[in-house]
Amino acid sequence: MSFESLNLSAPILKALSACGYTAPTPIQAQSIPLALEGKDLIGSAQTGTGKTASFVLPALQRLLVPSEARGKGPRVLVLTPTRELATQVTDAVRNYGKFMRVRSGHILGGMPYRDQMDLLSRPVDFIVGTPGRLIDHLERRSLNLSRLELLILDEADRMLDMGFSEDIDRIAAACPENRQTLLFTATMDDAMAKIAARLLTDPVRVAIEGKQAEKLHIEERLHVTDDMRHKNRLLQHLISDVNLTKAIIFSATKKDADQIASELYSQGHAAAALHGDMSQGARNRTIYNMRRGKVRLLVATDVAARGLDVSGISHVINFDLPKFAEDYVHRIGRTGRAGATGVAISFCSMNEVAYLDRIERYTGKSLEQHVIPGLEPSRPLRRVNSGPGGKKGRPSFDPRKKSFGAKGGRPGAPGGKPGFGRREQQVVVEYRRGGRRDGSAGSAR
Ligand code: AMP
Repeated sequence: MSFESLNLSAPILKALSACGYTAPTPIQAQSIPLALEGKDLIGSAQTGTGKTASFVLPALQRLLVPSEARGKGPRVLVLTPTRELATQVTDAVRNYGKFMRVRSGHILGGMPYRDQMDLLSRPVDFIVGTPGRLIDHLERRSLNLSRLELLILDEADRMLDMGFSEDIDRIAAACPENRQTLLFTATMDDAMAKIAARLLTDPVRVAIEGKQAEKLHIEERLHVTDDMRHKNRLLQHLISDVNLTKAIIFSATKKDADQIASELYSQGHAAAALHGDMSQGARNRTIYNMRRGKVRLLVATDVAARGLDVSGISHVINFDLPKFAEDYVHRIGRTGRAGATGVAISFCSMNEVAYLDRIERYTGKSLEQHVIPGLEPSRPLRRVNSGPGGKKGRPSFDPRKKSFGAKGGRPGAPGGKPGFGRREQQVVVEYRRGGRRDGSAGSAR
C-alpha cells in the first residue's frame, strides 16, 4: 500500500516523502481512510507504530479545506498526557504540514501564560495541549472551542491514569457536538469504555495487535539482580557495550534518576536525568541534547519519558521495573522504533518479582533470562505467581547450575508436574567481550 492510495493531498505526500517514509504503517493504513471519511475512531496501537501520523495526517488534510465557521479558535485539538508528548505531536504537525499553511502551537502546563495568550489571541488551526492548562484557558476565556472540528485524545489510557478524566469531559463539553473524535489508547478497560461511550459517536475500532505490533523489533532480556550494588555493576557492564549508542535508563524515583545520572556523568559518561521536577526548559534542553547525540545515557522516570521520540535509541534499561505493566510496554517502545532494532533490558531483584509477574501476564510472554559470567545473581528468583498463564511454582534460575529448578529444587528431578521445573530451561549466558570481568568500573550511585 502507498500513501497515494490513501487519498492524501499533494502537500502532505510531499512532506512524507521528505521524511523518507515510503509506505504507511499498519495503524496508518487502517486509521487514515476512516478518519478521512469523518468517522469517530478508537485506535489501539503501541507507541512506535506510527500512531502520531495516523491522526496528524487526516487532521492536516481537513485543514486544506477552509473553515466556514467564524471565529479564531482551533479547528483541531489534540490532548496528550504529558508535555513531552505534546511537543512531539506539535513537531509532527510542523513536519508533516511543512508544505501547507498551518497555524499551530502547543498549550502546556509549566510554560509562560503570556506566549499562550498571544497564540490564542490570533486565528489558530491546530492546538496540542495537556488537559490542565487547557482548562485554565477555558476558564479564563482565552480558549474558544466553538469552531472545533476534530478532537483527538492521544494516549487516553495514560490521561485517565493521571486523573484527567474530568478535565477531558470538560474540554469535550466545550466543543461542538458534531465534531469528529479520535481516541488512541494502548488498553481498553471499563473506565476507557465509559469515556469512549461519552465522547465518541458510533466509533470504529482499529487495533494493531499481535503480529502487527511486533513490528517493533525489540529484543527483551531479563537480568536477575541481588541488590542495588549488583544492579550498578550490571549497568556499568551494559553501558560499556559499543553497540549501545543511546540508552534510556528507567529508575523508580526522581531522586534515583538524579543520583544515577550524576554518578554516570562524574564517571565521564554523556549522561543526564529527565524527570518531572525539572523545569520544562531543562527537560526540553535535555531531550534536544539527546536528539543531537550530546547525551548518550538518559536516566528517566516514567512520566517524563512518556511518548519521548528520540531516534536511534539502541537500548532501554529498566534499572527498576515499573509498577504498572503498561509502563513496561511504553518504556521498551522507546527503542526498536520505525523498523530499527532495539534491546530492552530489565533488572529484577527479589522485591520486584510481583512487578515482573504483572509484566509477563500483561505481555503474555516470559522474559528470557540472561546472565553475564562474573555478574550472575547469587540466588535464584523465587516466583510465586508468574508467567503469562499465572502459574505457580515457575522454574527459577539456579546460578550455580546455569539452569532453572522448581522453587530452587533440583532440575530434572523426578516426580514433578511435567514442564514445571522438571525440565532444564537454558539461560542465555552472555560471554563478555574484553572489559573487566567483575564489572567494577565504579558505582553508578
Ligand atoms: P509514533 O508511533 O507515532 O511515535 O512513531 C514512531 C516513529 O516512526 C517516529 O519516529 C515516526 O517518525 C516514524 N514513522 C511514522 N510513520 C512512518 C512511516 N510510514 N514510515 C517510516 N517511519 C514512520
